[in-house]
Order: sequence, then C-alpha cells, then structure tokens
Amino acid sequence: MILVVGGAGYIGSHLVKELVETKEVVVLDNLSTGHRSLVDRRAHFVEGDLGDKAVLDKLFSNYPIEAVMHFAANSLVGESVQHPYKYYQNNVANTLTLLHSMIDHGVKNFIFSSTAATYGIPNVELIDEQQPTQPINPYGRSKLMVEQILSDFADAYDLHYVVLRYFNAAGAHESAEIGEAHDPETHLIPIILQHLLGQRPKISVFGTDYDTPDGTCIRDYIHVTDLARAHILALNALLSGEKKSATYNLGNGKGYSVKEVIDTCERVTGRKAVIEYTDRRPGDPARLVATSEKIYHELGWKAEYGLEEIIASAWKWHKKGFIGK
Ligand code: UDP
Repeated sequence: MILVVGGAGYIGSHLVKELVETKEVVVLDNLSTGHRSLVDRRAHFVEGDLGDKAVLDKLFSNYPIEAVMHFAANSLVGESVQHPYKYYQNNVANTLTLLHSMIDHGVKNFIFSSTAATYGIPNVELIDEQQPTQPINPYGRSKLMVEQILSDFADAYDLHYVVLRYFNAAGAHESAEIGEAHDPETHLIPIILQHLLGQRPKISVFGTDYDTPDGTCIRDYIHVTDLARAHILALNALLSGEKKSATYNLGNGKGYSVKEVIDTCERVTGRKAVIEYTDRRPGDPARLVATSEKIYHELGWKAEYGLEEIIASAWKWHKKGFIGK
C-alpha cells in the first residue's frame, strides 16, 4: 500500500487517480487547501495533519505502507515572503515529523514534490539538476531544506528517495473530473481561463521589461498527467530496488512567455482577453526552463503533452465549473 500525503490537492489528486489503477492507496490530507471530492473513491482517505505524529504513527500501524509520496505543502512564493513561519513549519518541520514516523515504522521509500524554485535565478537557457541551488524566497528554501534532510536521512537511516523538481504544473485530467481548484487562484493559466469565462474582469501581466524576447517572463509548463506518470515511474524504480535515490527535473524543455500563454489560451478557447500590463511581481525569475534529460535516460520519462493540450484540458475543467469541497 502507498501513502499519499496531500492526495486531495491539485497534483496529489491526479497522481492518486493514476495510482489506484495498480496499487492500494491511502491518502492523508488535512483539507486545508485540498478537496475531498478530488480524491478518487478507490483510495482510502484519512483526514488529518502530517505534523501530528500520533496520527502518522496510527496510519503506519494500521496500513501495510511500503512507500510515501509527499505532496502536502504550501507553494506560493509571495505568501512565503509574507509568512515564512508558515512555510518553514508546514513544509520543513511537518515533513520532518513525517520522516521521523516513517523511520520509526521501518518505511524506507519516499517520493518528494520539490520545485524549480530551488534553483533561484539560474544563468542558463536550460536548467539541469547540476545547476547550483540558490533559492531566492522562503518557499524555495523550504523545499531545498527538505532535499538536504533527505540526503542526510539516506546516509544515516538507509532511506531511499526520489526528489522531483516540478516546473510549472498545469492542465487537468482528461476526464475533466479533477483539475486545479486553488482559492485564491494565483497561477497564470487558470487566471486567464477564469477571465475568459467572465469570472474576472481582466488579466494582469506582471512585468514587461524582463530580459526576454517580448519582455514577459518565460516558464516551462508541464501537464499534471505527465507529472503523475513520472511519480509512478519513480515509485516503481524505488520499489523494485532499481533506484536508491535520485533528483530529477520535470519539465517540457520548452519555454513560453506570459504573452505567448495568453495568445495560446485565446486560440484554444476562441475568446479574446482584456490585458492590463503592470509592474513585476517580486521574486519572479525572468526564465525557468528545464531539461528533463536525466529522468528520460534513467527512467524513460518524457513529457507527452504540449502547451495547447495543457490549456485545452484545463479549459474543459474550468468550463465545467468546480463545485464544493
Ligand atoms: N503571471 C502574470 N499574471 C498573473 C499570474 C502570473 O503575469 O495573474 C506571471 C508570473 O509573473 C510568472 C508566470 O505568469 O511570470 C507564471 O506564474 P505562476 O504564478 O503561474 O507560476 P510560478 O512561475 O510563479 O510558479
């Protein structure tokens, strides 16, 4: 059985939907930002906090858990600058509690959701895993701290782990049964689509004076289903003993500017956006684009979906409208 912590969130719920096809799954989520209705009914569900060691100890005693996949975290750069305590508590201290309970119960396999924000402002066109990790905000630092903890735990306690550094997750499940449902929403693609549905009066483009061809920031958008598939490959590599520990980027290898994303949304939806150009948002690097060659060579993963497909799947989900928790 696999424990998915944060399985009611955006990326976690997509992973669970794939994983239940081949494994028994138990989800732990405190529903602070996740939604019970996003969790596939075939998974067991426990509402609880990953910072609560008693809850965790009970889980590990009650279920025969062979691996933990950890998605539960706060993930907004701006908020992390305003409330660093929240980020170090939830993302670092609570993860430490989870790892402590795992070690106590002899569970040795761990998959960790990390981020491109661990790199800071890289000075290269394509970021590989060898780039220095110099995060520029508490969110990125909190994720990097956990990566460092994992490395020490691997040495001391024989923990086996895979760190997956996501670039910009986007899109929705092809069924449109689950998708992105943040409140408040801060991410570019859902904001554009909400606007095109008439739920927002306009879109703000944060900064037009970056050192990029059209002056707006460039990001690497990766379909959430591609992310889910990478997790399953990583899990199987750990469970089979083929991999002990590794760190991989997950991206498409292609960068799109904010303007290009808006253009693509207009094309896919056939609707026209009202755009306002504003100042930069603090903490945004000009360009973040991954190379995912390492995971391709080692686990055979590569992104299958491009930007248009990502947006088309998200559009189907947003048009349907998300109801309730
Ligand atoms: N962005 C924007 N307007 C918005 C939301 C985002 O111009 O309303 C820009 C943001 O500055 C960044 C890119 O879109 O350059 C992607 O931002 P998002 O918050 O989706 O992801 P992040 O890269 O911060 O993880």
